[in-house]
Amino acid sequence: MAHDPITNSILTLLRQRDPQIADLIAAEGKRQATTIELIASENHVSAAVMHAMGTCLTNKYAEGYPGARYYGGCVHHDAIETIARERACAMFNCKFANVQPHSGAQANQAAMMAMMEPGDTFASLVLKDGGHLSHGMKINFSGRFFKPVHYPLHYDKAHPEFERIDYDAMRKVCLEARPKMLLCGYSAYPRIIDFAKFRAIADECGALLMADVAHIAGLIVAGQHLSPFPHAHIVTTTTHKTLRGPRGGLILSNDEEIAKKIDKAVFPGAQGGPLMHIIAAKAVAFGECLRPEFKTYGEQVIRNAKALAAALASRHYRCTTGGTDNHLMLVDLRARDANLTGADAEKWLEGAGIVSNKNGIPDDPRPPRVTSGIRLGTPAVTTRNFREDHMATIAAWIDRVLAAGLAGETALASESERVRNEVAALCAQFPLPA
Ligand SMILES: *Cc1c(COP(=O)(O)O)cnc(C)c1O
Repeated sequence: MAHDPITNSILTLLRQRDPQIADLIAAEGKRQATTIELIASENHVSAAVMHAMGTCLTNKYAEGYPGARYYGGCVHHDAIETIARERACAMFNCKFANVQPHSGAQANQAAMMAMMEPGDTFASLVLKDGGHLSHGMKINFSGRFFKPVHYPLHYDKAHPEFERIDYDAMRKVCLEARPKMLLCGYSAYPRIIDFAKFRAIADECGALLMADVAHIAGLIVAGQHLSPFPHAHIVTTTTHKTLRGPRGGLILSNDEEIAKKIDKAVFPGAQGGPLMHIIAAKAVAFGECLRPEFKTYGEQVIRNAKALAAALASRHYRCTTGGTDNHLMLVDLRARDANLTGADAEKWLEGAGIVSNKNGIPDDPRPPRVTSGIRLGTPAVTTRNFREDHMATIAAWIDRVLAAGLAGETALASESERVRNEVAALCAQFPLPA
């Protein structure tokens, strides 16, 4: 049996029809229920969101938009997509929403296709400094069909803004390259993004400002991070990270002309039929985000992140920029021990039931497969109702496992078994959402 109740109820039928897949899903349910999820881009959805995904809505082709579909029989799909769009606009206090992108990268692709011609220049933060692969990585569409220029962080240790965005240097890059679009929003940046400052620079160099808030969307909706509106011309996001919805993308704007271009770029530009079962689940998740409890959730995500960063600092780990303002931190492991790598840490921690990901830190001398850091986030553990004192416990576990790993294989084997059991015991007190 799976340890999480949602998976259990779904599996009853599936086990009769396809036991092979049912068993694998059950095993994954058990893994999620008995381990601590610290991957900053992951979360646990509610039973309501989970159930909306597994419905008859998947049977339908609904190419087009509400009131303008290419297939008959879309009456209920129109109503569902309209509600999803209205809730998305209510969450971000904006006028236009496209809820169809299949993922965050698809949302970015559509937004770029809507506003740029192939070969046009845009400015962004490079992947290794915390950007996303869809912000100009060479082999991604964004780097193949457009021309990225990158703005820097402060790389000088002595600078008070060390490892934060260098807004002056960004302005210079933009004035020189004259990009069509200026992108902000990142995958591994632990500090507040100053959207107003970005907009001033975008205006100065004649660029459109696009804010990809994939990571921090939930914090914005909960009022725990500055809003990209009214500054950004276009806002893209995922729906499965801090928004705690199904895997998917979302594009928002306040300008009718831009919104029309985006709708065309999503369909038929980049996608065919929308995933209507996922759009229904997005609507359900957005409904949850609009409730007062979600504000409390967002506050606790940040409190937990600050507590985890502080507890790690007290054990001689260095969080880049000196800590965090949001839901994530980048931990420079070399401060604890020069021989620690992100790749080893990820592997050793997973063996002890603590799931994270290796991540380069700014100016990391090690290659991406090794790295000097791990990225840790609190959205998933906060959904599970972990509090600040649990963050101190988790930091202690992390340090025990990494110290044992440095001591050698025998020490690691016995310590990870001990920690894994302690982790499972704590997880048993905090079941996944039902
Ligand atoms: C996660 C992320 C995305 C892409 O999300 P997918 O759904 O995996 O395509 C885009 N931008 C940023 C900044 C992200 O962190």
